[in-house]
Amino acid sequence: MAENRKKKNQQKLPWWLTPVLLLAVLAIRFGGEALGRGFQWLSDSQTSESTTTAQKVPSDETLTVRFLDVGQGDSILVQMQGKNILIDSGDRSEAARLLTKLEENHVEQIDMLIATHPHADHIGGMKAVLNRFPVKQVYDSGQNYKTKMYNDFRLQIEKEQIPFEVLRGGQEVPVNEMVKLKVLSPQALYKGTPSDTNNNSLVLRLEYKDFAMLLTGDIQAEVERDLLQTDPEALQAQVLKVAHHGSKTSSINEFLTAVKPKIAVISSGEGNKYKHPSPEVVQRLYNLQADVFNTALCGDIIIKSNGKTCDITVEKFYDEQQAQAA
Ligand SMILES: [Zn+2]
Repeated sequence: MAENRKKKNQQKLPWWLTPVLLLAVLAIRFGGEALGRGFQWLSDSQTSESTTTAQKVPSDETLTVRFLDVGQGDSILVQMQGKNILIDSGDRSEAARLLTKLEENHVEQIDMLIATHPHADHIGGMKAVLNRFPVKQVYDSGQNYKTKMYNDFRLQIEKEQIPFEVLRGGQEVPVNEMVKLKVLSPQALYKGTPSDTNNNSLVLRLEYKDFAMLLTGDIQAEVERDLLQTDPEALQAQVLKVAHHGSKTSSINEFLTAVKPKIAVISSGEGNKYKHPSPEVVQRLYNLQADVFNTALCGDIIIKSNGKTCDITVEKFYDEQQAQAA
């Protein structure tokens, strides 16, 4: 499936554009290296698996995070030492695509299934995932959200007697001896904000030695301000999953400055009706010298870390100027 999609994408490009794109990507690659950002660029590779990466980082100590392209929605697969953690599951309409991607990445069981919040573009694929794979543990934001989809999700967990836990700020979920997920928010459920459901998203900091990735669900500016007040230093991360698909209701400049991301990942659908991501948010990230990757343009975005540096590969060719304009 991934192969087919890659081919389809290549066919759409005029023949003369390929060398232009290659040069553009190489320019970004060497630009990144010139800035000495401490990570390697492998994004010009057409394959998501790089042999260079495999040689540099022993596979048993590689943390792999895949931002799966599931259209307008989020789904992030974290893999290490045979463990699979799935954070969100995209929209229901993308469930078949999600299952294919999980199988392509050798998922046979899910050790932790995490729902950042109960909106349909984050839990739509949960039913399909629970039906297909054995799931050992479910973590949730524990919101009182009355939709059939969310209700069914909770009922299925109960029926299948899967251990279920609501997470709150300050908790830590160990992945293994080296990697943990720190819960930064919510401390307690928000009430009366412009979108409580979004603002009550689980905010997670994935930590592996010197490497950190901040996963923000769909939080908005209100929570970003609270996080800044609580502990701005705890926000710093090499990789940021940009909040709420790059919406302008999130990603205030002070928050992005505290995170200081080298890589910013936006998970959004091509031509989505919300016009995500906001050009202003993308510009703010560029102003901070972050490199911005969008699943709508790049397909799956894969980040591998050895606990110090990280490599990034993308499923499809992308163009920096396109990303800026998207
Ligand atoms: Zn969302």
